[in-house]
Amino acid sequence: MFEDNFRKVEPYTPGEQTNDPSVVKINTNECPYPPSPEVEKALKNLDLDKLRLYPQPACNLLVDAIAEVYGLPADQVFVGVGSDDVLSMAFMTFFNSGKPVLFPDITYSFYDVWANLHGVPYKQIPLDKDFNIVKEDYYQENGGVIFPNPNAPTGVLVGLDMIEDILVHNPNRVVIVDEAYIDFGGESALPLIDKYENLLVVQTYSKSRALAGIRIGMAFGSKKLIKYLSDVKFSFNSYTMNTPALVAGAAAIRDKEYFEMTVAKVIKTREWMKEELKKLGFEFRDSMSNFVFATHPKYKAKDILEYLRSNKVLVRYFNIPRIDNYLRISVGTDEQAHKLIDLLKDYIK
Ligand SMILES: *Cc1c(COP(=O)(O)O)cnc(C)c1O
Repeated sequence: MFEDNFRKVEPYTPGEQTNDPSVVKINTNECPYPPSPEVEKALKNLDLDKLRLYPQPACNLLVDAIAEVYGLPADQVFVGVGSDDVLSMAFMTFFNSGKPVLFPDITYSFYDVWANLHGVPYKQIPLDKDFNIVKEDYYQENGGVIFPNPNAPTGVLVGLDMIEDILVHNPNRVVIVDEAYIDFGGESALPLIDKYENLLVVQTYSKSRALAGIRIGMAFGSKKLIKYLSDVKFSFNSYTMNTPALVAGAAAIRDKEYFEMTVAKVIKTREWMKEELKKLGFEFRDSMSNFVFATHPKYKAKDILEYLRSNKVLVRYFNIPRIDNYLRISVGTDEQAHKLIDLLKDYIK
């Protein structure tokens, strides 16, 4: 068969998307608020004649804006088409020792997909029964370490002391901290990049910056890590990011005030949602992200999922061992959260 020599991979399955505005879509951790008004202005002012030309290969417009806002030199910043692109590139760049890369058994389900795609051996390390990372598990011989902080889909945050401990025990391996949800109340490992040359911190515009649709992710690290990442990118596709994304991304990152306001709103709604879910008997670890990962001792997650879906509320369910009785519920607007809680009250009484 001519397919015999094709690459066969098990793809990642993203959460469902819908264009139906009557659906309460709290299944993929997007921001429930629009992006900064500065993004609209920047895109309106974009000279369309510029689109004739290739975009900046080094993405300077965006890299410089991010570097300025984060107070870093530009050569410690790398950008890509969403953090998925950045992370995939990092797997290709840093995980080539032939030894297994370590990540939790319950985590972002793209990690094993990239490992398989890029031919990287890996070992999934079980979280403890309360979904905590056990740091000693990461002392064993490995080809690199990656985990989200807060972890997804559990929402559990670890402190910088644990991250430093893992870094100290892996001086010759790259440790990637995927901070997709760090803006919702966690402490970023960013200040550690100058202390640990092997630390790569990855963030995204998709959750806290309301721009999942434009695809921007970024990595921060030592000049050395960023240089190697860039070399791989330029060996793969010089023009990963398009001009409108560079322009919109630079405008968004400079509007700190709007960013802080929307994040504060999400956190406020999350805290209300936690209280209400608790009253209804749901159990969950304290979430420091823009979602709650909850289970109910009396009702099956799958049944609740179907009930909510039939009432036009989408939440995320993973048919994966250990978490197949949990729902991951994104924090929406207050109105969306109220609809969710009202429906659950009806279901549970
Ligand atoms: C959402 C998410 C990403 C990917 O985000 P992008 O939209 O590709 O920037 C990466 N890691 C985790 C843990 C996520 O939840």
